[in-house]
Amino acid sequence: IIQLYMPLNWFGTYYRVIQKNFIDMENMFDLLAEHPEIEDLPDARDLMIKEGIVEFKNVSFSYTPERVVLRNVSFNVPAGKTLALVGPSGAGKSTIIRLLFRFYNVTDGAILIDDQNIAFVTQESLRREIGVVPQDTVLFNNSIKYNIQYGRVGASAADIVAAARTADIHDRILTFPEAYDTQVGERGLKLSGGEKQRVAIARTILKSPAVVLLDEATSALDTQTERNIQAALANVCANRTTIIVAHRLSTIIHADEIVVLKDGEIVERGR
Ligand code: ATP
Repeated sequence: IIQLYMPLNWFGTYYRVIQKNFIDMENMFDLLAEHPEIEDLPDARDLMIKEGIVEFKNVSFSYTPERVVLRNVSFNVPAGKTLALVGPSGAGKSTIIRLLFRFYNVTDGAILIDDQNIAFVTQESLRREIGVVPQDTVLFNNSIKYNIQYGRVGASAADIVAAARTADIHDRILTFPEAYDTQVGERGLKLSGGEKQRVAIARTILKSPAVVLLDEATSALDTQTERNIQAALANVCANRTTIIVAHRLSTIIHADEIVVLKDGEIVERGR
């Protein structure tokens, strides 16, 4: 029985490993399908951040030739200021964020950071200077400490705690069974949407980029969670150029400028 059982047991183990790798590969192909490879130009230089001014100059963009998603979009975000993008679903708000991170090249016009066209800089340098807080943060199956430290690998424990405090998640982490060593993610403690977003904010605070892109969650939050998130947002935006896809009035109120998009065009702007 043992002779029979052992190979079967091994087979089970390897089968699970292989199966998991297939799942990872599928995810990878999904990613590749969604973000076709953007190549650096042969003479691409590193982005040099001076102040962190972000400018869209007559940007047009189409995912597919049949349909224009952004049409002649222009705006300027001065260093350290916050721009809120609002508008109906499908207006092109998240597309603006994706273009800034250069998941795609613009079809027409230019995106400039401190007067440097992002199409001409290395993607590595661009992504080093930009922090992204997505709508849905995927946590690694690892400790909460590791998940925050991901923002700056090698950050000290003190810096991790400081970032968690600034992101207003530290007190919550202390209530976890093993505090900062608690396993989170799919196979560990499940965090709420608002908690995951604050983990992403803590990561971004550790990374300390000049420019922050934020895709605010659309899900309804209770008043306390909303307050926590607002405090965390205010901290991550302070002294950084920030572009927020905003869904909440409380976020929009704090922006320095509001741009209203509709069908890929700016239809209104102001405070
Ligand atoms: P929401 O508030 O619902 O997130 P949004 O304003 O952020 O909407 P985008 O996600 O920027 O809208 O999408 C703008 C348009 O581009 C939509 O019509 C969408 O269907 C289309 N679109 C988005 N991603 C792709 C893609 N990968 N390929 C083709 N079309 C896409």
